[in-house]
Amino acid sequence: MRINSRLLYLFFVITISSCSTTRTTKRDNGKLDVVFVQMNDVYEIAPVAGGKEGGMARVATLKKEYLKKNPNTYLVMAGDFVSPSVYNSIQYLGKRIRGKQMVEVMTVAGTNLAVFGNHEFDITESELQERINESQFDWVSSNTFHKQNGKIIPFEKHQGATVIPVPEKYIMHLKDADGTMVNIGVIGLTLPYNKADYVSYTDPLESAKAVYAQLKDSCDAVIAITHQAMEDDIKLAQEIPGLAAILGGHEHDGRFQKVGNVFITKALANARSAYVVQLHINKKKKRTDVETDLRYLNESVALDSVTNEYVGKWTKIANDNYASLGFDAKKIVLAGGEALDGRETEIRRHPTNLGNLIGEAMADACPQADVVLMNSGSIRLDDILTPPITQYDILRTLPFGGGIVEAEMKGRMLIKTLDAGRKNAGTGGYLIYRPVQYNADNNSWMLNGKPIDPAKTYRVALTEFLFSGKETNLDFLNKNNPDVVKAFEPETSVKSAKSDIRLAIIRYLEKKK
Ligand SMILES: [Zn+2]
Repeated sequence: MRINSRLLYLFFVITISSCSTTRTTKRDNGKLDVVFVQMNDVYEIAPVAGGKEGGMARVATLKKEYLKKNPNTYLVMAGDFVSPSVYNSIQYLGKRIRGKQMVEVMTVAGTNLAVFGNHEFDITESELQERINESQFDWVSSNTFHKQNGKIIPFEKHQGATVIPVPEKYIMHLKDADGTMVNIGVIGLTLPYNKADYVSYTDPLESAKAVYAQLKDSCDAVIAITHQAMEDDIKLAQEIPGLAAILGGHEHDGRFQKVGNVFITKALANARSAYVVQLHINKKKKRTDVETDLRYLNESVALDSVTNEYVGKWTKIANDNYASLGFDAKKIVLAGGEALDGRETEIRRHPTNLGNLIGEAMADACPQADVVLMNSGSIRLDDILTPPITQYDILRTLPFGGGIVEAEMKGRMLIKTLDAGRKNAGTGGYLIYRPVQYNADNNSWMLNGKPIDPAKTYRVALTEFLFSGKETNLDFLNKNNPDVVKAFEPETSVKSAKSDIRLAIIRYLEKKK
């Protein structure tokens, strides 16, 4: 297998030396233990929650802890890590960062193997290619392929003249100190969600079955590393009961279930926890016992100093960039009070306190506007913000940033927009609005106690993105619509809170202090 070559070297040194001194006592006992340290859905390289939780430096420490006890320890990433990130909007050496910081820090932290999550395809084809090339870890993908010039081929890692295809099935050839040799097969699955034009999917379950059939006879155990909905992982466990474990991602809130004999594990997003999945393989008895441990990565876990150095390097690059955009990342904007709910399951379905706060901040930045509107999909936090909240927290809440623009439009266009936003519930096109209110009794929209008049003109403040017509079911919401009476010029200077919605929120919170 293409495991970390340094590790392999260390392992040989240990085996060679142990062979020469204890040849008579160390016999192949037919048993081998392998440890998988699992993370998933990690968007932040640095710790979150005021430094108290998560961070790749804590993940590195956890891996090292197990590696000391067992050289067959592997750090795996079950998808979603190059995007979304506040880093993606900033530049480094003349290029947008787009996950470069994460791939570098994952490599330093000792990542061995990754699968694609849906967010890996948020970045462009050439950007993803660069990230794969930069990664010093392996990838596996049983159902997700590269669509290039009309052909469907595996994704590839290009290192100098060497081209390494991302395999559909991945086999780890392991050996332990007493010489037991074991093959572990790995299936990698991604939900076919992100329809980027350079990606092609096959059905995850059918692909898994086909790959499992190819692996099961030559491997002592087969695991799946997946990035898909929990219900699909459960189906996978039911359909392939011979799997040793499913190391999954996509949900952010931590999951654990045993279906038949198959454990399904998903850690908390942003490495606030990691799962440690150990396979105890007994070749003679042809059985694998699985042991799982949930490890919270909080202040009880030290930051690995080498990884932390790289995190510091990127944090400085980011902070310098934010400074040029008018932000002071470390500054606290909300010292206390209630936690703000930015979970996608909430904020894309009904108003939350975070959504309300953003609406208030927009209204504050645009005092002449009758109505403010924003698409909940711009909020990419998918987490709860616990005070103290810094400017950085606001930046990562809205990693894409973007300005606030104003337009005068006919009431009928405003009603159509609000209706579409309601229909978009559950998706990023669900709208945050104020101070209008929906009246369910007669299916109408009320503004200051009166129904919105289709013929009247209203001044509306909305995000630049929303006014580009790119949001789901809201393509008509753009300045070329004949119902737009006047579109005001965007304000781009950092002096104006309207130049960036994040600046509007920060200025509003500072005013309220
Ligand atoms: Zn995902």
